[in-house]
Amino acid sequence: MLDLLKSEFTRRTILHKAGFGLIALSTFGVAGTIFKPNRTLAQAGPAPAKEPSMPPEKKLGWAVVGLGKFATEQIIPSFGECKRSKLVALVSGDRAKAEGIAQQYGVNSKNIYNYQNYDTIRNNPEVDVIYIILPNGLHAEYSVRGAQAGKHIMCEKPMAITVEECQAMIDAAKKGDRKLMIAYRAQYEPYNLAAIKLAQSGKLGKLKAITSDHGRNLDPKDPADRWRAQKKLAGGGSLYDIGIYSLQAARYITGEEPQEISAMMYSTPGDPRFREVEENVNFVLRFPSGVLANCTSSYGYADTKRIQVFGSDAALELDPATDYYQHRLIIKRKNSNEEQNIQEKNQFALEMDHLSESIMANKQPKTPGEEGLQDVRLMQLIYQAARTGKTIKV
Ligand code: NDP
Repeated sequence: MLDLLKSEFTRRTILHKAGFGLIALSTFGVAGTIFKPNRTLAQAGPAPAKEPSMPPEKKLGWAVVGLGKFATEQIIPSFGECKRSKLVALVSGDRAKAEGIAQQYGVNSKNIYNYQNYDTIRNNPEVDVIYIILPNGLHAEYSVRGAQAGKHIMCEKPMAITVEECQAMIDAAKKGDRKLMIAYRAQYEPYNLAAIKLAQSGKLGKLKAITSDHGRNLDPKDPADRWRAQKKLAGGGSLYDIGIYSLQAARYITGEEPQEISAMMYSTPGDPRFREVEENVNFVLRFPSGVLANCTSSYGYADTKRIQVFGSDAALELDPATDYYQHRLIIKRKNSNEEQNIQEKNQFALEMDHLSESIMANKQPKTPGEEGLQDVRLMQLIYQAARTGKTIKV
């Protein structure tokens, strides 16, 4: 999990103790470019040209399936920062939109597909990898069809709606000898990798507890939030969409799997957004080491993406923890707060290149289908614990 964070931390301690309230800054010596956020498609502009001094490197060809908000605002612009991955094809139900994006990013219009002729992508040797960025309820179908077309698959989180769908995706990839990776970007993002390293190296002492809070206020006016309120397309409510980051954090910070789960769920009565999916889920996980993780997930509270880790000697706070950029990591001791200043990188480019490199080296990616299946299995158990009011043994 930590092999991306190769260099040791080199520290540049700047300030310390201001009447017990000073903040210290230190730098993790991680080589790489500073990540410039991609906010909107219009602002993002065309992918930056390759630097002339860069040695020619092999890049795999990627097709993006579903040209929605996340694909157009974050993923497609990030190909410009990839070393091993290039955008070569688009799959969309909206031909005009796809034509515009193809023109902007230099994709040949002969490589634009729709959902009906998608399977003919098998005949396109330019496409090595298919990236599924569709509503959750469509992940399984398009991943399986993609693997059957002989392509490697990157699939957005949550992997699918049911455990059975996840297993079908894994089976299809195995049958075709294709790689399947779930796009858990936080596991490639430098601040999260640093937090994992701090927590697992004993620098905080013995780990005792984790809290992780992920929520936002679902906006029915936003087209990207409309399908999120429909159970068939979303699979679940806040837990499937954003609470999954709290679950992931507890698992990757400890490096363990939970043994017990308890949970409580609540949706505001009469709120039309929550007719089919839940608003809030709070859940507690107990890990074999004794760490208790207290997690919240909400479609009702304002944007929050926070992870806190409490050890016997120190605590760390990552806030925002799982945003697209501008993360913040602070180590808290009795009389001091030490801010870690880590070089930001484009986490989307890192995760896409990770899959391309895994394919080239014929290695299992760090977040394979099995990782996505485990989260879906655990989320189902969280719902079960909330529904029954009983603590579930995993
Ligand atoms: P959007 O609604 O913005 O995009 C989904 C796209 O899927 C649509 O624009 C459309 O593209 C296509 N689509 C095909 N069938 C349907 C359908 N029946 N209803 C709606 N759209 C359809 O959603 P997001 O981009 O926000 O989310 C897409 C996926 O990405 C989800 O799985 C989500 O969980 C994940 N995601 C991950 C994030 C991360 O940080 N890792 C952040 C945000 C989302 P077209 O018009 O081209 O056919």
